[in-house]
Parts: sequence; structure tokens; C-alpha cells
Amino acid sequence: MICPQCGQADQVEKVSTIYVRGIEVKWRAGKARLPDGTEAPSRRSRLVDQMPTNELMALTRRLAPPAAKKGAPLRAIHPDHPVIALSLVTPIFLYGILTGQPSGLLVVLPVLAGFYAFYFWQRKRLIAKFLATQQAQKAAEQRIHTGVQRWMKLYYCARDDGVFEPGANGLTPAEQLAGVLFRE
Ligand SMILES: [Zn+2]
Repeated sequence: MICPQCGQADQVEKVSTIYVRGIEVKWRAGKARLPDGTEAPSRRSRLVDQMPTNELMALTRRLAPPAAKKGAPLRAIHPDHPVIALSLVTPIFLYGILTGQPSGLLVVLPVLAGFYAFYFWQRKRLIAKFLATQQAQKAAEQRIHTGVQRWMKLYYCARDDGVFEPGANGLTPAEQLAGVLFRE
């Protein structure tokens, strides 16, 4: 693969190959996996093999693929689901009160009725909020997926410290990797 900047191939390596070799060296693991789940081809790389370990580690960090943010929110829950779950256990709960202390129903039933009234009053708003959250999560996942697909195609030139896509004209400084991956 020829670098579009220096027009040479001797310092060029696939970004995913550098990254996988870096991970393998770091964890001394057998075969690392690529972010799309496939097993990485652990082919020899002249460029990587002659690179000092600390340099390889630094480069691996800089060329890391896009990943979901740590502490990303859990998948949104449809607001009906906890209410359905509550509704399923309520009869058992009510039966317990009925057999133990029937007068307690006078307190519990209005509270339950109040809860359901409040829920159905707010349900539309809660569902709209849920759908918006779900959509935002899907968009974020899609963005990362697209970023990973692009990342898989990139090459790195050590001479120019930049990345490029085969067939593209220019070279992008490694620092601006994210800009390449998430370009619209
Ligand atoms: Zn180059």
C-alpha cells in the first residue's frame, strides 16, 4: 500500500494490524479480536516488529478504534415493562392483605389506584421520552459501527505519522483519527 504523502510503502501498515499486534504484546495474549468480533490475522508486520515496545504501545493507544463510552447508559427500558411486572405481583400482595388484615385494603387500594391513574396520565410523555432515548442510543451505536468499519480500512504511514484510506488523496495526521472515522 502506497502512502499518498511520501509515495512509498516501506513505512506503511494497516491500522488494525498495528493495533492488534499492540494488544497482543500488551496482554501477551494469543489472538486478539478486532472490534467487529472477528479474529485478527496475526500476520507478521515488518514495521511493527522493528518498533520498540513503548513506541508500539503509544501508537496502539493513538490508533485505537472507536468504542462505546465507558459507563454508557443501560439500554432504555420501555416504561410499560416495570408497570406490567408490578401488576403481575400485585394480586399476590393484595391477597396477602385480604387474608391477613382486610382493613388494610382501604389504604392500599386507593394508593394503587392513584399510582395507575398517575401512570396513565403520564404514560404518553414517558413513552415519548423512552423512544427519544432509544433513538439516541441507536444513533450512537450506528456512529460507532460506521467508525469501526472505516477504521478497519485505514492504513498508517510511520514516516508521516498519518492515516489514510486506500484510494484517498490525502493523509490525515494520526491525532485527527476521530475526525476521519466520524466524518459525515
Ligand atoms: Zn508516508
